[in-house]
Amino acid sequence: MKIDVKTSGRTQMIDITSKIRQVIRESGVKDGLVHIFSLHTTAAVTINENADPAVETDILKTINKVVPWDDHFEHMEGNSAAHIKVSLFGPSETVPIENGAMVLGTWQSVFFCEFDGPRNRRVNIQIIPTQVPA
Ligand code: ZN
Repeated sequence: MKIDVKTSGRTQMIDITSKIRQVIRESGVKDGLVHIFSLHTTAAVTINENADPAVETDILKTINKVVPWDDHFEHMEGNSAAHIKVSLFGPSETVPIENGAMVLGTWQSVFFCEFDGPRNRRVNIQIIPTQVPA
């Protein structure tokens, strides 16, 4: 299924963990994998720290330094920086599900990464149940 994510800045990390938890709950799947996939060429998905918002700030600060918005790119749309960032971060993450819950470390959350916002975005959530031995 797909979830909607509304972004409000050009570069932004949005914690979508609770939205994914809801999809898993509604699926009734107890054991398996959840695949979280951005349906965009200028927005990514990553897993990182949820406790200190300064971590997000530092990640975005660094990626914006590594890939500046304007660097004499050739792509006519003018958003090459966003395309490059998505290829560095990757469009998806996969998280194990045990007893109906995502297996995440204490400080881990799943973040949607906007690199050419603000926009209305969609993320595909695919839940793959695993065979439980009888
Ligand atoms: Zn483009």
